[in-house]
Amino acid sequence: MVEEEPQVENVVIVGSGPAAHTAAIYTARAELKPLLFEGLLAGGVAAGGQLTTTTDVENFPGFPDGISGMEITERFRAQSINMGTRILTETISSVDFGSFPYEVTSENGTVVRAKALVIASGATAKRMDIPGAGDNGFWQRGVSACAVCDGAAPFFRGKPLAVIGGGDSAMEEATFLTKYGSKVYVVVRRDVLRASKTMQQRARANPKIEFLYSHAVTEALGSGKFLEQLKIKDLKTEEERIIDCNGLFFAIGHLPNTQFVSHAVDTDDQGYIITKPDSTATNVRGVFACGDCQDKKWRQAITAAGSGCMSALEVEHYLQELEDDQPGTHSALNMHHNL
Ligand code: FAD
Ligand code: NDP
Repeated sequence: MVEEEPQVENVVIVGSGPAAHTAAIYTARAELKPLLFEGLLAGGVAAGGQLTTTTDVENFPGFPDGISGMEITERFRAQSINMGTRILTETISSVDFGSFPYEVTSENGTVVRAKALVIASGATAKRMDIPGAGDNGFWQRGVSACAVCDGAAPFFRGKPLAVIGGGDSAMEEATFLTKYGSKVYVVVRRDVLRASKTMQQRARANPKIEFLYSHAVTEALGSGKFLEQLKIKDLKTEEERIIDCNGLFFAIGHLPNTQFVSHAVDTDDQGYIITKPDSTATNVRGVFACGDCQDKKWRQAITAAGSGCMSALEVEHYLQELEDDQPGTHSALNMHHNL
């Protein structure tokens, strides 16, 4: 039996956040017929990406009254489809850039070949290795990495809760949790916050929030199924004490979702894809990366969308170059950039 050759796509996009959908909208409008793999709980996040885990997005232009994270991602997706993007709800598990067109394989076994690839796989919230807070402890029984997803659960209502972190996520999650908890501790490892001024001010103005600067959570405790207390340590005095606390939320940053591609493109020591300056080109020709999988500095929906636009325009130029080439020169283009 002759094996069927995988279909050759102009451009395959991996991801489902603002970067991926902006790249899809632009490449679809350029009549490149993009195929987008949105992932099935890829990196533990629903298709739509990180914005699906937040409440209101107030800083994306075009929504003067703000918009819910879920709604804006649904709008991104609808716009991609309206422009002609084909979407598969599958997670890409591996890529092979050893031959051209490049080969992309999903966890479901779908194999496609692509002349260009846009990686927009984003990032996922980090968990902490605290005794009692892991899978065999109170993880998902009081311990979570997403306040917005889990904070409304009945067992958090009217109870003291804690958030670890000093960034915008921690401020946002703590503020959100005050809707449900009796009070919210924000446990910060340094004596300063990393969060933006506005987010800090909002959290500081909330009477239900108490900041524990230069503190760490050292153990999650409980006598039954659910978290009841935390052991916390003052990092300046080394003193430990126990506080009542029924919910612990990690808000300590993210890991890029790049495992499926990190063997094939250059990444930094944390796994973020390295792109050329003022460009989204990776070291592999025809492979572009945009959004939070390559940006550990700005990490905003609008910057992710902006870099998704850059990827799309770069794909267009690159495909035009391929088109202009004489037949048979594809293999010559399959070479690595010198960054
Ligand atoms: P992501 O949003 O990370 O989405 C990538 C998605 O691609 C993944 O979630 C997954 O669904 C999919 N995927 C991953 N791997 C694969 C694979 N192998 N195959 C197929 N699909 C895959 N920014 C703002 O501007 N305003 C805000 O108000 C704001 N609030 C935030 C609140 C929270 C709680 C968090 C965590 C972030 C917030 N941000 C906010 C940051 C913003 O969400 C991100 O910067 C932005 O979503 C990054 O977009 P992205 O397209 O790079 O990827
Ligand atoms: P950040 O990387 O900005 O902040 C992580 C925080 O967690 C820092 O305070 C860091 O401490 C702390 N931390 C990291 N590791 C540990 C650890 N092991 N133990 C204790 N504390 C730890 O991540 P965020 O998720 O907060 O934000 C990511 C991006 O998303 C940012 O660009 C942010 O602006 C954006 N965002 C925007 C929002 C908005 O505008 N509405 C809402 C939420 C996020 P330290 O400072 O000491 O390194």
